[in-house]
Amino acid sequence: MTIADLPHAPSAVPASNGAPQQPPPKQESAYATALAQFDRAAQILNLDPGMASMLRSCKRELTVNFPVKMDNGEVRRFTGYRVHHNTARGPTKGGIRYSPHVDLDEVRALAMWMTWKCAVVNIPYGGAKGGVVCNPKELSPRELEGLTRRYTTEITPFISPEGDIPAPDMGTNPQIMAWMMDTYSMHRGYSVPAIVTGKPVNIGGSAGRFEATGRGIMFVVREAYRTFGWRFEGIRVVVQGFGNVGAITAQTAHEMGCKVIAVSDVAGGLYNPNGLDIPRLRRFMQTHQSVCEFDGGERITNAELLTLPCDVLVPAARENQITAANAAHIRARVIAEGANGPTTPEADEILMANNVLVIPDILCNAGGVIVSYFEWVQSLQQLFWEEDDVNHRLERILIRSFHDVYELAIRMDLDLRTAALVLGIGRVAEATRTRGLYP
Ligand code: NAD
Repeated sequence: MTIADLPHAPSAVPASNGAPQQPPPKQESAYATALAQFDRAAQILNLDPGMASMLRSCKRELTVNFPVKMDNGEVRRFTGYRVHHNTARGPTKGGIRYSPHVDLDEVRALAMWMTWKCAVVNIPYGGAKGGVVCNPKELSPRELEGLTRRYTTEITPFISPEGDIPAPDMGTNPQIMAWMMDTYSMHRGYSVPAIVTGKPVNIGGSAGRFEATGRGIMFVVREAYRTFGWRFEGIRVVVQGFGNVGAITAQTAHEMGCKVIAVSDVAGGLYNPNGLDIPRLRRFMQTHQSVCEFDGGERITNAELLTLPCDVLVPAARENQITAANAAHIRARVIAEGANGPTTPEADEILMANNVLVIPDILCNAGGVIVSYFEWVQSLQQLFWEEDDVNHRLERILIRSFHDVYELAIRMDLDLRTAALVLGIGRVAEATRTRGLYP
């Protein structure tokens, strides 16, 4: 059975025992995508309705409204979230997003994807996610620190090194993780480095964590090329988004001998068919706001970037970028999902019909959470690993996970996304059965 044969109703799985249903998510929202993906996999796994209803819902959801004193003396109210999706396989893990667009449904979707991702790469976590509705680019460093410390305080009852461990995501970075770790530690009265991952290395972060997601994406792409017997050297790579994930993916692709022909950020894109000088662009970005200001290529829009002819397209910005509206125009051989949820279910079908191979987010960008897991282990043990060791372990886990998904896809005649979901959701269901039902 392939993706095209499966029904699509977002609520194919009923809530059990007449429990009240949440209002349906907005069409084309990340949450609608996550639920549609879940329903498809749950049907293949033949999950019983009670199990499906539990796995389809988030376990705990916290919304906080809190004040921050701005530089001009005004007090502004901000809204933040932290959602735990599932704890069957271990404590919850997931990033914190600072974005003007973040809402509870988006955080739910991202938390759910974290659960399946941790299960696909077989690390002992469930999924969580958090966010604050704000534009970090419009806040001064002092305001950003104040917002982070107050948000951390508000979600303190929800997080702990044993129960729920935040990390960076869009709009957050190692400095913000340092403020979170410091705030939590001040409340406890001693340092608790294992409360977050993605911290700076000088306060207990892991070597290789900052680079892990982008590096991991290229490990997976290279393994896919090896597996299919395709030539990898010199392939043309296009990257949407030039933040943590996009910039490191471009850098790693460049170091692996690929030709990065286009990159973009929220302001637009840059194209050079002969290949962009990525190391020079990264140095340039230390003092500039947008890749569009760089002189090494021709300006293009994000819409144009997505449909450039290339070998590998890496959407590494945000969700719902490849939709029914543009999927038919994609001219990449492979889409390697750096962002979470960049492709809608309708786009998936079009891409499959056009023989575009999609390496799904819950496999492709799992390098970040894998090295977060290494960082958490190191923080708990106060015993630190060399970067080479981190990178080798990361590569081993990703290669094994790619083959777990690929072999399941072959065995069950599925596309890679559905196979990854079936593998991840199946492992969470299995853990739930093994633990049994309390009380
Ligand atoms: P980031 O904030 O560091 O960078 C985001 C980049 O995307 C920026 O360059 C921004 O300008 C660009 N962008 C934003 N909106 C855009 C748009 N509409 N069009 C084009 N570009 C746009 O964030 P990040 O940490 O790199 O995360 C990017 C994606 O990767 C998110 O979906 C995130 O959930 C996912 N992800 C991140 C990690 C991680 O370790 N940071 C791990 C796994 C997945």
